[in-house]
Amino acid sequence: MGKTLAGKVALVTGGSRGLGAAIAKRLAHDGAAVALTYTSSPQKADEVVLAIEAAGGKALALAADSADVEAVKHAVAETVNILGRLDILVNNAGVGAFAPIDQFSIDEFDRLVAVNIKGVFVATQEAIRHIGEGGRIIMIGSVSSDSTPFAGISVYALTKGAVASFTRGLARDLAPRGITVNNIQPGPIETDMNPAEGDFADGLKKITALGRYGQSDEVAGLVSYLASPEAAFVTGASLKIDGGITA
Ligand code: NDP
Repeated sequence: MGKTLAGKVALVTGGSRGLGAAIAKRLAHDGAAVALTYTSSPQKADEVVLAIEAAGGKALALAADSADVEAVKHAVAETVNILGRLDILVNNAGVGAFAPIDQFSIDEFDRLVAVNIKGVFVATQEAIRHIGEGGRIIMIGSVSSDSTPFAGISVYALTKGAVASFTRGLARDLAPRGITVNNIQPGPIETDMNPAEGDFADGLKKITALGRYGQSDEVAGLVSYLASPEAAFVTGASLKIDGGITA
């Protein structure tokens, strides 16, 4: 059987570690050539590229801070120049900062908005200059846009709520061009951002129905489905993959 994404090109923002690295590898496994961006971990990004190439795939690492408009534009242009086209954008790069509202600095607020909201807007606006019929925009939002079980999550939740709203609006904008737009809302997933043995881990495990953290590969599986031709009737959706944290 042919691979579901053979001949396609994907761009995954923040693909050097965590969810983004798993997503990049999974899309490559499905047959796509994959570009991935990073900011601070060139070595980790290279490792993802080498792993994809070792498995017979094609990949490209690009330095691009999602908060830097010109860098994001350049990453999209380089993806198209080097890999020849663009079919799938995964807006994964994101940052977290957690503090009570009276202690949350304006600088941190600006950083979260710049990466989690403006970075998503710029990557999407640039990518859709190239993505055609059958294309896919996939956001990595967060279950925190629907449910905030702890204090201190408000600003992060604000940014992920914006991603969910943006997804719905974009689905209407891009449907006439045959492009679907969906938002994956993970619960706690074991990564550097949210270690399964971290400060919040025990509390988070307890409030999931399944009593555990999720793994990056589990989220990558949902990305794989949304990127595939099978998901053509899914658009404007926010899909939770949260171990039942909101059940
Ligand atoms: P990690 O911190 O483990 O990895 C973040 C990745 O994004 C790295 O590849 C990092 O690159 C990259 N990145 C960070 N900042 C930027 C930036 N400014 N520009 C470009 N790339 C950047 O995070 P996760 O894998 O856990 O999170 C990925 C996404 O999933 C985020 O949007 C997050 O909000 C979301 N999410 C995560 C959950 C979790 O429990 N882990 C739950 C819900 C949502 P580099 O290596 O160069 O620093």
